[in-house]
Amino acid sequence: MARSEFQSLPGTRDLLEPDASRFRSLVDLFAVEARNAGFGQIVPPMFEDVGVFVRLGEASDVVSKELYAFEDKGGRSIALRPEFTASVCRVYSQHRQILPWKTWYAGPSFRYDKPQKGRFRQFDQVGAEVIGSNDPDIDVEMIALAWRFFAKLGLTDVTLLVNSLGDAEDRPRYLRALQDFFSSRADELSEQALETLKVNPLRVLDSKRPGDAVVAAEAPVLVDFLSDDARAAFERVKAGLDALGIPFTVAPRLVRGLDYYTRTAFEFASASLDAAQNALGGGGRYDGLIENLGGPPEPGVGFAIGVDRTLLACDAADVFRPTDLSPQVWVVAVTDGTEGLRLVEELRQSGIRADRSFDGRSMKAQMKAANRSGAEIALIIGDDEVASGTVSVRTMRGDGQQESAQRAEIVEKVRSLLS
Ligand code: AMP
Repeated sequence: MARSEFQSLPGTRDLLEPDASRFRSLVDLFAVEARNAGFGQIVPPMFEDVGVFVRLGEASDVVSKELYAFEDKGGRSIALRPEFTASVCRVYSQHRQILPWKTWYAGPSFRYDKPQKGRFRQFDQVGAEVIGSNDPDIDVEMIALAWRFFAKLGLTDVTLLVNSLGDAEDRPRYLRALQDFFSSRADELSEQALETLKVNPLRVLDSKRPGDAVVAAEAPVLVDFLSDDARAAFERVKAGLDALGIPFTVAPRLVRGLDYYTRTAFEFASASLDAAQNALGGGGRYDGLIENLGGPPEPGVGFAIGVDRTLLACDAADVFRPTDLSPQVWVVAVTDGTEGLRLVEELRQSGIRADRSFDGRSMKAQMKAANRSGAEIALIIGDDEVASGTVSVRTMRGDGQQESAQRAEIVEKVRSLLS
């Protein structure tokens, strides 16, 4: 077959069946878990004033290098969202909800990243946020929500990393210590890391380059710089996770890719994915972000999970398999009339998965299609059946028995055969 002139762009992908149905089921599962935990859905626009995202932190790659930003025809500077949290904060500032406000979302985000397995330019996320509470128990509940979701998917190889990034007041002391440390080891760092160091030493901790990582592994850790309050909150989060039996590892150098995090930060990794793309999701507290965006000084905590990567992890672990999409019934109609059309409609109205052939194909061709479809039952209507008010019912598995049933009772007949 000739290839069409256009192909999907780098970093994008077309989801076809059965992947599309799995994708949908995964989001549905997340929706159920989020709703059970008291979260309502939010559907923000995919693009915002570029300022909404720039405030996330200009030192992060997501904002400085990967943002899909452009001017629209009205001369507005806008950007496709690289993540949801900033939009959620903007929505809260604009619509003020009763606090604490618990909300979940699902949809695509966009980052001009280098495409590779598990890394796309358009990728989907599901996530949840709580605005308006400082209680560390909420941090625990957020982690528990994501944990439950992974468990329900059947993923058992997920590891949870947690850290505390301290309060805004703890940060400068730590940044100074980091700056001093990295400066003293400058000859071992990549050029890129040295550039990053000028803007934000925290980001150097996040460098995936092996040489940088060796140095970063010896850097001072934030937990040694926490205020008493931040330390107590972190202890409470860890105790909460213990109480729920959620295993975790404290990762003292976990900083996450965006600069707005305070206090609790966490990440979920899958052992079955390549190390560079093994993060299934992550999140944390962002107690100054809403204010930074021009809203009220409300704290927030949330997480996002990458749908594409989570499905890859499910593939690797051979869990969360596609559901059977084949029809239950195939209607074979060899009449001039509309019997086929009516019968298929009646079955579908009754909640039975039914399909048929088109284009007036022969009985033989239609039976072949019935076979190929994976349907359990073929219903055959020809002129004889129409004349006698019956339908021929053939079971497609086993010995392929055929019997006659009254047209008026066909839905009940099919139901009893399927059950
Ligand atoms: P982040 O806010 O960067 O931690 O993103 C949250 C989750 O979204 C990550 O853990 C990934 O699972 C997913 N994600 C982020 N960027 C990409 C990308 N470029 N392609 C696919 N998934 C991504």
